[in-house]
Amino acid sequence: MKFLTLTEYFERLEATSKRLEMFDILAELFKSASSEDIDKIIYLSQGQLLPPFHGLETGISEKLIERAISEASNESLKRVQQAYKETGDMGLVSEKLMHGRKGYELTVRQVYEELTDIAMTGGSKSVERKISMLANLFKGVSSREAKYIARLVIGKLRLGIGDPTFLESLSLAHGDRELRPVLERAYNICCDLGLVARTLLEQGIEGIAKMRVNVGYPIRMALCERLPSPEDIIEKMGRAAIEAKYDGFRVQCHKDGDKIDMFSRNLEKTTHMFPEIAAAIIKYVCAKKMIIEGEALAYNEESGELLPFQVTIQRKRKHGIEDLSKELPLKFFAFDLLFLDDEDYTGRPFAERRAKLEAIIAENSIIEPSEMVITENPADIYRFFDNTIARGLEGAVAKRLDAPYSAGARNFNWIKLKRSYKGELSDTVDVCIVGYFVGRGARTKFGIGGILGAVYDNKSETFKTISKIGSGFSDEELIELKSLLDKIALKHKHKNVDSDMKADVWVEPQYVITVTADELTRSPMHTAGRDKDGIGYALRFPRSTGFIRTDKKAVDANTVSEIITMFEQQKKVSIG
Ligand code: ATP
Repeated sequence: MKFLTLTEYFERLEATSKRLEMFDILAELFKSASSEDIDKIIYLSQGQLLPPFHGLETGISEKLIERAISEASNESLKRVQQAYKETGDMGLVSEKLMHGRKGYELTVRQVYEELTDIAMTGGSKSVERKISMLANLFKGVSSREAKYIARLVIGKLRLGIGDPTFLESLSLAHGDRELRPVLERAYNICCDLGLVARTLLEQGIEGIAKMRVNVGYPIRMALCERLPSPEDIIEKMGRAAIEAKYDGFRVQCHKDGDKIDMFSRNLEKTTHMFPEIAAAIIKYVCAKKMIIEGEALAYNEESGELLPFQVTIQRKRKHGIEDLSKELPLKFFAFDLLFLDDEDYTGRPFAERRAKLEAIIAENSIIEPSEMVITENPADIYRFFDNTIARGLEGAVAKRLDAPYSAGARNFNWIKLKRSYKGELSDTVDVCIVGYFVGRGARTKFGIGGILGAVYDNKSETFKTISKIGSGFSDEELIELKSLLDKIALKHKHKNVDSDMKADVWVEPQYVITVTADELTRSPMHTAGRDKDGIGYALRFPRSTGFIRTDKKAVDANTVSEIITMFEQQKKVSIG
């Protein structure tokens, strides 16, 4: 396929926010793609070169692309900078300054390979080399193509297509909607849409059904539902495993001989963050190849006390990890086994996975199985829960004994139980920031007084507002927030945001923050969960409880349906 053809599809996708139209456009695109092109087409449409767990980035900043555009267009750097100031969009800048170019009709594969070469260029003088490679690429394409290449290389393509839309369109393109669950399962166990699509084209749906968990490819993580009390949990699950809920980093560890890979909640590679856990896995976990999951958190080596998330988060660094691991050692509580020595365990019952997990971990001071009791008595859960809370943990997670590992799903196979303080919601809410307000009074000095928070509606793949949040931020946080948000500011409300409120500055839906509130209320002001009378849900007295959740992407914000469930549960008696 010619890259110009792909560009035309991008133009059509950009022009619509209707999901049904997106399905049609994408299905048409996928139908016309060859098996050699399809994975590249998908990655490029996702605005990347490979899935994020590969950690491949172009390494092109706005400063660098300005120089490449200047070189390719023969315009002065000043002129490029000025055009960027006016439009705020590097795509429009390159389109404008390279206007009239015809290009050499490069193929998708050629452009993909050039971009990959740019990304892989490292070492000394790599900055200059990257700039000249990118300038050369610009010189070979038309201005329409340049627009999307510019956005791609700085990570701002953002066509607003969610993974479910890709899966739906892929099944529409190559069969019918019945393919969707099989494709979805394959995606959940490899996190690579390009690989799924290519396998479909090369081997048909039979090939997809045969796809297995692979060490090195992250598995989309299972998530918890919530219920307000131990009685509800036992009623729902019967006899169940009750585990301590640790508040640290979720880590999925992949071991292949001495090679260890670790992935975060949002499937990014985090291996560099946990050297002592990697070493302990090699030494104390008896398996050639395996995938286990657990929670890593800082602890006091002398007293054994587990430390709060605010302390553990200090381990989130790129450099100086070895020293930090001595200062702030981690413990790893393993809670699941997903793969062991060529056997996929995800389909096996939890009780069996857990027994095997315990069997392969030799006694040591770093990795241990999570604390657990098995019971059918709510009183035991209360006791277990109180004990975890007394030790500063977050609460408990109940697990259905006969359930498989629900890759990529939030369901009642796992149920979390957290403390609810008097007059507070029993759980925090993760909202995506879709805009901010300049603020009044003392706050005007920071240029930001609060943010507009939205939850995710996975049916329409849009963000629906739920609250304006101005409390809970320190002055430093407000300053940092403004600077981060200004980098992703938009001239208009994003097409995937549904809001009646008018933010002073709209931003790309990208950052998630955790918010606590007194309660959920019904309100005509917000679009989350809006009924036919125009009444949605809102947070009463919301306040931020931390800074940006780097382990969550925009679509990992709480969903509208979760908010409705929380609203229903709020009416019931809750634990506390
Ligand atoms: P999400 O479910 O979207 O991750 P969240 O980030 O608000 O939401 P919670 O739902 O409160 O997190 O809790 C789920 C998280 O709890 C898991 O992702 C995991 O990191 C952590 N966790 C701690 N202990 C356990 C355990 N024993 N079993 C499973 N998860 C645990």
